[in-house]
Amino acid sequence: TEFSHAPFDADIMQACGEFERPSPIQAACWPVVHARRDVIGIAKTGSGKTFAFAIPAIQHVTNRLANEKQPSGKKDKSTAVARPMMLVLAPTRELAIQIEEQCVKACQGVTINAACVYGGVSRGAQIGALRQAAPLLLIATPGRLQDLVEDGQVDLSNVSFLVLDEADRMLDIGFERAIRQIISHATYSPRQTVMFSATWPESIRKLAHDFLAPDAVKI
Ligand code: AMP
Repeated sequence: TEFSHAPFDADIMQACGEFERPSPIQAACWPVVHARRDVIGIAKTGSGKTFAFAIPAIQHVTNRLANEKQPSGKKDKSTAVARPMMLVLAPTRELAIQIEEQCVKACQGVTINAACVYGGVSRGAQIGALRQAAPLLLIATPGRLQDLVEDGQVDLSNVSFLVLDEADRMLDIGFERAIRQIISHATYSPRQTVMFSATWPESIRKLAHDFLAPDAVKI
């Protein structure tokens, strides 16, 4: 129940500098997500759930970058296609933007870019931003992301950390087909999947059954 006990780099924990202590969902999620377990979190917006997954996810991406470091001079020159390591699916543009803002905050001390894509605005500007940022963290609403994946603008084969945020709302909006399509492109193994939902109806249990490990931890 103290930030100093969290198993994450100080650079990443800076994002929590203004808070007194981890929220209950953070205290419960951090050790489990850090241990690379799949998680089903029953939590609402306002509980601090974004940092509950984003802090361990950014630590994971940082660790992958350290382990997969290319010898200097062998780095790809600016790739046209975005190839994120972490993908967050969220039901609405507003929530996606809030999550991106919190991710950007947690990335201040580490050189990792985040980007956000959502429907209702022109695709062109988003494609331009994706090429510019080459984001390792991508936050998206399902419809627009499916569109960009099918258009070859986003390559999901390097996603090792997947988050389904407010999964019940995504299903209510009618995104189930898009979500399933998107996940079929997330072929990287091993992949860790974290799902948050405010409710736990049969449709959400089915989604968890299909996309999370059988030993996913329920919090
Ligand atoms: P969320 O549930 O992720 O939408 O978070 C709601 C708000 O809680 C955000 O504005 C965060 O900045 C804030 N927050 C996140 N973690 C903490 C914490 N440990 N203590 C107090 N506020 C927090």
